[in-house]
Order: sequence, then structure tokens, then C-alpha cells
Amino acid sequence: MANVLTTSHIQSAYSIASQVMDQSLSLKQGVAQLVTEGIGATYAQDLINIYRYMRLGRCYHRTINVEATNYFLRQLFEDGGTEYLSPAINATHQHIDYYERHQKLTLHRKRRVVADLEHLLGGSVIAHQETFEKEVHAALADSSSARKARLAARPHVKPERVVLTSTMFVRNPDVVAETLHRAGGVCEECDQPAPFTRKSNGMPYLEVHHKIRLADGGLDTLENAVALCPNCHRASHYG
Ligand SMILES: [Zn+2]
Ligand SMILES: [Zn+2]
Repeated sequence: MANVLTTSHIQSAYSIASQVMDQSLSLKQGVAQLVTEGIGATYAQDLINIYRYMRLGRCYHRTINVEATNYFLRQLFEDGGTEYLSPAINATHQHIDYYERHQKLTLHRKRRVVADLEHLLGGSVIAHQETFEKEVHAALADSSSARKARLAARPHVKPERVVLTSTMFVRNPDVVAETLHRAGGVCEECDQPAPFTRKSNGMPYLEVHHKIRLADGGLDTLENAVALCPNCHRASHYG
């Protein structure tokens, strides 16, 4: 029995895994049932365990294909909303990082699946910024008089508040410190001295940027880090 999963395999694996999780089936019974449906025993066990790790938000080491990952995450969102999806996304991020480190490759499709689902978490900071930039772009395409008319219609509006979830990377302070040390107060892009010094410690103000974004699987290493002046840093993101 090969590890070829049909959509109906994935669906039963999910449903059986959730029954194992709430203990209406034992792991052994769950595996046996999936084997009768044509899934190999090892893979059946992996699917059930991965469901558990997703629910617990823990890094899983065995891998399942992109379709199963996508189905599990979407279904968890249906079943338990953000309370289920949030740890599952965490677990999957950790899994992807683990797998990429060991196999020395980038799981582009899996990363895209996770990124799409992060939008479901209702207002990730990045999604919010992207939407806002689109709105500014659309407003710029209007005439100045149309914009002024809209502004006049809402003279004293207090800005709305939104609560956003954010996924952050835990960065290594030594990478930042050593990159700043290497730069010696000079932007590594335009070779100009830092524009000002920090009030807090008198150090030249430069920002440490990752050449390949951490979100795209870039590593938090000296090779992937560069110290930039604020202008060059902005240009590297928006230029
Ligand atoms: Zn610069
Ligand atoms: Zn940056």
C-alpha cells in the first residue's frame, strides 16, 4: 500500500483522528480502520498523530502531503474556529521549519497553504497592512475632489480599533549584534554612515534586515542578515 492518499482517505483519516483524540476510539482501532480503507499502517498512524500534534500546537516530525495538511487545517477551523486553527498553524510552522532544516529544502506549497490559512485567523497584521495599502492605492486613483468630498462627509471620526493576531519569529540577538558590529555604523547597502545615533546608547542607528525573509524560509544567520540605514531598509521592502 503506497502513500497515495485520495480525498476520501484524507477525510476519513481526519474523522478517525478526531475520534482517537476524544478517546471514542483507541489509536490501534483507528489505525486498523484506516488500513481497511487502504491506507498503509505507518501512514495511518502518522495521520492520526499529526492531528493530535496540530490540536496541541506541537511540532510534528513525520510528514503528510500538502492536500492532507490543507484539509486538516481547514477542517480544524470549521470544527473549532481559531481556537483549533491557531495551535495547528503553530504546529505546522514548526514542522515545516524542522523538515526544511533536515532536508535542506523549502516547502513552498506547504508554506503557501499555511499563509492562506493565517488570513482566516481574522486579521493577521500582514493581511491588514496589505489591505490598507490596496485601499490607499485605490484612493490615489480617485480625484482629489472625490477624496475631499469623502473626508468632508466624515469630519471628526475617531479611528476604529481592531485586534490583530501576529505571528512573530524569535530572532537571535547575537545575529543582530554581530551584524551591527560588522557594519561598523555604515549602511551595508549605500555605504553611508548611519543617519543618527540612538538616544538610549549612543550607537549608530541601523536596522538589521533579512535578505530572504524569515517568512519565506530565510535563516536567521549572519549570511542572511544585513545592516541597513532606514532609507535602504524601506527601499528593500517597498522599492
Ligand atoms: Zn543605506
Ligand atoms: Zn527588513
